[in-house]
Amino acid sequence: MLDSLPRRVAQRKTLALPDYSLAAERIPQHVPAVLEDAERRRLKVRIAELLKERDAVLVAHYYVDGDVQDLAEETGGFVSDSLEMARFGRDHPAGALIVAGVRFMGETAKVLSPGKRVFMPTLEAECSLDLGCPPDDFKAFCQEHPDRTVVVYANTSVQVKALSDWVVTSSIALPIIEHLAARGEKILWAPDKHLGRYIQSRTNADMLLWSGACVVHEEFKAKALHDLKGIYPDAGILVHPESPAAVIDIADAVGSTSQIIKAAGELPHDLFIVATDRGIFHKLRQRNPHKRFIEAPTAGDGATCRSCAHCPWMAMNELKQLAQTLEDGERLAANEIHIEPEVGRRAMLPLERMLGFSMA
Ligand code: SF4
Repeated sequence: MLDSLPRRVAQRKTLALPDYSLAAERIPQHVPAVLEDAERRRLKVRIAELLKERDAVLVAHYYVDGDVQDLAEETGGFVSDSLEMARFGRDHPAGALIVAGVRFMGETAKVLSPGKRVFMPTLEAECSLDLGCPPDDFKAFCQEHPDRTVVVYANTSVQVKALSDWVVTSSIALPIIEHLAARGEKILWAPDKHLGRYIQSRTNADMLLWSGACVVHEEFKAKALHDLKGIYPDAGILVHPESPAAVIDIADAVGSTSQIIKAAGELPHDLFIVATDRGIFHKLRQRNPHKRFIEAPTAGDGATCRSCAHCPWMAMNELKQLAQTLEDGERLAANEIHIEPEVGRRAMLPLERMLGFSMA
């Protein structure tokens, strides 16, 4: 018999991981207020005064309201991606940090600056990736795979970070995983499955993936993007790697928010289709006033009411909410980030590993 020799079949352990994508009913509706110019100016002046009174600096993410981004820069604060926000907050001399973003960004700021008070316009600003990675479930997953190096995306709770060996942001995930793979380490990755798959495809690293997703990026549709490219054949396509693989495959540049902004300036195209949260358009247009930017489509087959390419939690960071929180001591205290010291100390290790790697 030709096939009589014993055959060794590579057995891949099949994961029984549930799908941790967030159910639609857990995604809040948030419609940002439209402000008259006079009201916008009044709020900005008042917030600037309150920041001074409270010895606070405003640090904002690229996805939040453009007015809040402008105010951060006008008052000596900073607008950036989550890695640079954390670094700026740590190094700034102010006694308090106001983090306009989502909760994990506030937590990261607090971990890196335990001696500072860290506040957010509202602690209701969550993230579907963070919510889709409950610490107890994640701990059990890690315990099932003790031979793997645990690498978590920045979009996780401080408790999940405290269980990890490395934290990475999307701007630094590729080189860190390449570095670990070159050392022969097998990776346990969480929580974003699309980003995990993207990194795996670029590095060939042995990665076991959690199954979370971003509710904004998961909605981008490759077919509709192809169709749009047909209408604008000269457009460049910029994609955040939290998007599905079929969308990433069409991109001219794939990267974090800061890498997308950089690519828009460097690529020769005059027109771009952009697949990430539309909050980024504010900075893209400021930096590239002669270029045009179109939102990548989220509509098409399977589109849902959340198909607006804007994170509902990021949208909660508005001038009005920020002013109300800074004005009212009780409301401010209710939106302060507190972290158990032991959890904070444990989470500091993988965060500092990332910051040290990015400086090397
Ligand atoms: S855009 Fe996605 S990844 Fe970013 S905070 Fe919102 S839900 Fe989280």
